[in-house]
Amino acid sequence: MKKNEPRICVNCSNQTPDQAAARCPQCGWKLTKLTPTRLWACGWVVAAAGGFITGMMVFVIWATSHSEFTGTARDAAFEFWMFTLISVLGLFSVLAGIWLIRHRKMNKMILYGFFGLAGLLIITIMMSLPLSS
Ligand SMILES: [Zn+2]
Repeated sequence: MKKNEPRICVNCSNQTPDQAAARCPQCGWKLTKLTPTRLWACGWVVAAAGGFITGMMVFVIWATSHSEFTGTARDAAFEFWMFTLISVLGLFSVLAGIWLIRHRKMNKMILYGFFGLAGLLIITIMMSLPLSS
């Protein structure tokens, strides 16, 4: 890993070569230790995790479609929504990871997309808690 890599601003993707800079000169956001190499590595981790999740969901959907369903229609609808959400999250991770690997830049769409999907998933899990026994 190179030591004098530019820092990437999470807010505006501006690259700052100044290692001592505490804030982004373009937008004033606090700079993190995010560098293109680290972002690239993150991309691989995210893509691998997304691929794993997607693969797992494909298996789960395949497995459930080959077993008899004993729950109610509400359970079925919930399961379908859950599977869809996790599959989308997995696919989104793969695409986001590939994007990060290719561009080595931060993307706000990816950031918000992740927060949005993760938020939806958390809400779904929280709502399912009193139902599952
Ligand atoms: Zn900035």
